[in-house]
Amino acid sequence: MASEDTDTTQTDQLVFQDPVKRYPVISPPEQTQEEPGLQSEMTPKPDIGEFSYRGTGRLEGRKALVTGGDSGIGAAVAVAFAREGADVAIHYLPEEEVDADEVVRIITETGRQAVKVPGDLIDPEQCRDIVRRAAEELGGLDILVNNAGKQVANESLEETPDEQIQQTFQINIIAMFTLTREALKHLPAGSAIINTTSIQAYEPSPPLLDYAATKAAINNFSKGLAQELAPKGIRVNAVAPGPIWTPIQPSHGQPTEDLPEFGQSVPLGRAGQPTELAPAYVFLASPESSYVLGETLNVNGGSPTP
Ligand code: NAD
Ligand code: MG
Repeated sequence: MASEDTDTTQTDQLVFQDPVKRYPVISPPEQTQEEPGLQSEMTPKPDIGEFSYRGTGRLEGRKALVTGGDSGIGAAVAVAFAREGADVAIHYLPEEEVDADEVVRIITETGRQAVKVPGDLIDPEQCRDIVRRAAEELGGLDILVNNAGKQVANESLEETPDEQIQQTFQINIIAMFTLTREALKHLPAGSAIINTTSIQAYEPSPPLLDYAATKAAINNFSKGLAQELAPKGIRVNAVAPGPIWTPIQPSHGQPTEDLPEFGQSVPLGRAGQPTELAPAYVFLASPESSYVLGETLNVNGGSPTP
């Protein structure tokens, strides 16, 4: 939310500007929240595009489900999709209701329908139910954004418990198979599936071994599934963010002492804001990317990728 307390610019993404200076270099004070973390409790507040994303009618009449759509990148994508003319179902964990309500407010004020589908991706039955409820309440589905994720940093492999590894794989990649299979019952030709992966897929950080491995798997899954679904007219792509200021970071996603320098080592010299990811998802969801399949769009402030 670009506002006084965010200290972000009030310009939107279509205004010509220097990307180095579009947002200030943030130095978040050390802070910790329990997982999954609330955006409303973060200092500073991330910009999800309320005052900085301008729509241009590129998703008129579309129906989208965004997992983890209550905060961070998912919230920014949900806001952008609504501004582009789509109705949006946002999925989140029940304890994130306060963040979800804020995204619903922005979507509704944009004049689009917002649907709330809370649920825990640890449970395959809940995964299926999330998709069913979204499709039912939206009256169909033609965009699926698999974006929810778990990231917990550990000192070493020895200190990474099996339970955490299993949950990270279940939420980040196994649930993606279940959600996508259920969504295929609804997605017509012309639909788009977009999966959130990470720079960690190519540059794994030692404290994030389990997380990084799931992100490499998501890239691979996206490229494989893109080939299977191409003849049906359903395009699958991925977006790989770099360091973005979202609740995943201060809720054990990074060692707390690393937060004050968060994102400063990328070539652009600053962390990204969630709304800076949104145009990539809009592009991959919109019919204009009709010949783009199995691609991973890197939105990472300039870090080289394979
Ligand atoms: P975020 O905390 O705003 O979003 C993650 C969401 O995942 C949460 O809001 C929550 O709703 C959902 N989630 C977590 N555990 C869940 C569970 N058990 N069941 C259901 N939902 C659950 O943080 P974000 O950074 O916007 O994360 C969105 C995606 O972006 C994630 O896949 C993350 O791995 C990816 N990503 C983030 C960064 C970054 O620097 N922030 C970088 C690369 C990739
Ligand atoms: Mg959240």
